[in-house]
Amino acid sequence: MELLKRAGEFHGDICGGIVMGTKLAIYGMETMGMTPGEKDKRLIVFTEIDRCISDAILSVTRTSLGKKSLKPMGYGKFAATFVNIDTGEAIRVIDLGANKKDMEEEEDETVEELIERIAKTPAEDLFEIQKVSVKIDKNDLPGKPLEIATCANCGEVVMDGKHHLLGGRAYCTSCFSGSYYKILDE
Ligand SMILES: [Zn+2]
Ligand SMILES: [Zn+2]
Repeated sequence: MELLKRAGEFHGDICGGIVMGTKLAIYGMETMGMTPGEKDKRLIVFTEIDRCISDAILSVTRTSLGKKSLKPMGYGKFAATFVNIDTGEAIRVIDLGANKKDMEEEEDETVEELIERIAKTPAEDLFEIQKVSVKIDKNDLPGKPLEIATCANCGEVVMDGKHHLLGGRAYCTSCFSGSYYKILDE
């Protein structure tokens, strides 16, 4: 309950996604032999969706973008993968309810009712766990930066091996393969 409250505070409110994400993250960490709500240096989490559920996963697992322990994958799927970087053990946890095509029966449920129902339901009935293996590039692991380059075109610094080599020179992704932004003329 404390973890749910904390996730709600982080997210802004306790919505359905926060309820499910909190339970999912607790289940994931416990299955990995870790303590939910506590930072664990061995843990890297891949979240697959940019929605409420991922805020709860972030809050419960204490992972962060800045520590390189949280990897948002943007797959648009209700699942997250927990990796122990010491042992290589990894599990992908899938929210079964969010994957049901027929969600009508729960449509009228209030958040309070949802919290109660989820608290009473065993995690095994709500989520599926897949044992997986995840290859993580050494540049994507937490710790000191291994590779730093400067883009030969725009002159900006590119960290963590994210540069592209062409004709022996380093380029940033924007200059190499196009960017998500377009610079406007002043
Ligand atoms: Zn929400
Ligand atoms: Zn560049």
